[in-house]
Amino acid sequence: MQTITLGAVDITRVVEWHAPVAPTSAIFPSSTPQMWKENASWLTPDFWVPETDELVANVQTWVLRSEGRTILIDTGVGDDKERPNMPVWSHLRSGFLDRLAAAGVRPEDVDVVVNTHVHSDHVGWNTRLVDGEWVPTFPNATYLIAKADFDYWNPANRHVQRGVLGDVTVARAGGDMFEDSVAPVHRAGQVQLWKDSYRIDSHLALELAPGHTPGSSVVRLASGTDRALFIGDLVHSPLQIAEPDCDTCLSEDQEQATRSRRRILEEAADTGALVLPAHLPGHGAAEVRREGSKFALTRWAAFDRTQGGPESW
Ligand SMILES: [Zn+2]
Repeated sequence: MQTITLGAVDITRVVEWHAPVAPTSAIFPSSTPQMWKENASWLTPDFWVPETDELVANVQTWVLRSEGRTILIDTGVGDDKERPNMPVWSHLRSGFLDRLAAAGVRPEDVDVVVNTHVHSDHVGWNTRLVDGEWVPTFPNATYLIAKADFDYWNPANRHVQRGVLGDVTVARAGGDMFEDSVAPVHRAGQVQLWKDSYRIDSHLALELAPGHTPGSSVVRLASGTDRALFIGDLVHSPLQIAEPDCDTCLSEDQEQATRSRRRILEEAADTGALVLPAHLPGHGAAEVRREGSKFALTRWAAFDRTQGGPESW
């Protein structure tokens, strides 16, 4: 099953990409080999390759149907993008739109696109290449982007990021992501910028949870007695449920990201909300509980463990 229903909202997972990404020691600098070994029984094989110490991740889109509208949460890497700092995502041809169509969604059917944050693996399918130009993939959609991220990643604002190799403007660190995946939908008048919070409909609302990026956000679902939190990149591995202080090298502000992760996981534990991170393979989402000052997994969601992608993956 790749669709579950919470309250009056249907949630479908559409996977764009699936692979071992990089060693956990590089991605999670504050995690220890011991932490991974202690949790190996439930992290393997879906989330961690012990032999190579690699994190296994998906890039995927959550498709929501709510109040008669179709809402996409995150739009993956996209086809044909030039990504020199992530070669495996350069000039991708993933078949994503075919899998979206198999889930019953044509581009013109999409009413709302949520980018939980502005990173190249969350805004990619905002646009597609037509006759050499980047055009909005979803011609009838309103794209919701936090103003804090729009301003931060906009090359016109020339924000500077500290890096181990020296300071670079964040626009350069992000490659041409803003120009090929954000600016075209903004120029088309399809972007709604929001601050602090934004109500999508009576079941769904956006709220800032900054740190991974300044405008990182979560989508909160409350429908009947059911609750869910689409948490974007607050969690890249379920290890971060058991070890919530482990953040990734991918965050702009690791301490702030950790505070946001703890706050949202506390809410999930206290309200029984299903937690849906952006990148989890396997069952893709889970309910959590408090365990001392940390958290533990209560149960996985009912999404299939199989990825539903090309056999070549
Ligand atoms: Zn991501």
